[in-house]
Amino acid sequence: NLRKHFPTGKRNMLGKHLQLLQAVDDVSFSIREGEVFGLVGESGCGKSTLGRCITRIVEPSSGKVVFNDEDITTLDSKSLKALRRQMQMVFQNPHSSLNPRKTIRQTFMEILKVHGLEKGQEEARMADILEKVGLPIDALDRHPHEFSGGQLQRIVIARALLVEPRFIMADEPVSALDVSVQAQILNLLVRLKEELNLTMLFVAHDLSVVEHISDRVAVMYLGQIVEMADVEELYKNTLHPYTKALMAAIPVPDPTAKREDYILEGDLPSPIDLPAGCRFASRCRECMAICKEESPALKEVKQGHFVACHLYS
Ligand code: SF4
Ligand code: MG
Repeated sequence: NLRKHFPTGKRNMLGKHLQLLQAVDDVSFSIREGEVFGLVGESGCGKSTLGRCITRIVEPSSGKVVFNDEDITTLDSKSLKALRRQMQMVFQNPHSSLNPRKTIRQTFMEILKVHGLEKGQEEARMADILEKVGLPIDALDRHPHEFSGGQLQRIVIARALLVEPRFIMADEPVSALDVSVQAQILNLLVRLKEELNLTMLFVAHDLSVVEHISDRVAVMYLGQIVEMADVEELYKNTLHPYTKALMAAIPVPDPTAKREDYILEGDLPSPIDLPAGCRFASRCRECMAICKEESPALKEVKQGHFVACHLYS
């Protein structure tokens, strides 16, 4: 039941915020060990905020985050620091993720020092991890500007893996890269997932990006999960009209092939002024009378397949 509300600019005479932006609104799901969980939605749907709440970079407004059977929502900053070793992050832009003045070795050593690897083990550990992400050992003595975007994202991934975390939150890790490089980094992540049995939340705005790496996928719309299922089930048996629209937006190799033409029209309603009823109603071509009045709850319609839509209730 995670929620994150941000106050907006408007205040009343007493200085109280009049409106709240509901970035994440009552979201519940679990990620199993060894699983990659894809989280998809348009920009502004709350997926990054959700990822940041889970890792406690952002404080949730309410709800709970449980990690290794421990409620981490209320941890103080000291315990949170210990937790950081187990939760690592990879962000969209590798250029801003690394200190430009430091060599890769300095950056890596900093992490290893903070997270207390035994003395003398560092060189072997760094060499091993660089090999795993497909970079030569001499990368250690270079600075970030000497690398391409794709190479830098390999370094950021290596940094995340250095301390053998139990969980990785990757927020659009390929979105800032050239299309040709995106596939290479995705393939690398798929390989690392198999080799290291990674547990990961993978945030993306495009369903095609999460397809090959995820075990399960959740689709978010305006702060809520509207559909969630095993990856094969979701792609074969898409239920929610919004997910169908996202599917239709995936480019296909053969443009003459017949497929469901489900174009997403209209804009995302403002997350400050949410409509009553289904949040997708203004863009849904299957909208019924009930949709404008009652908000559909997320229900399990088939084992492991959840959808929030009146068409299935
Ligand atoms: Fe469309 Fe109604 Fe389903 Fe919302 S509840 S997605 S408006 S059919
Ligand atoms: Mg984002």
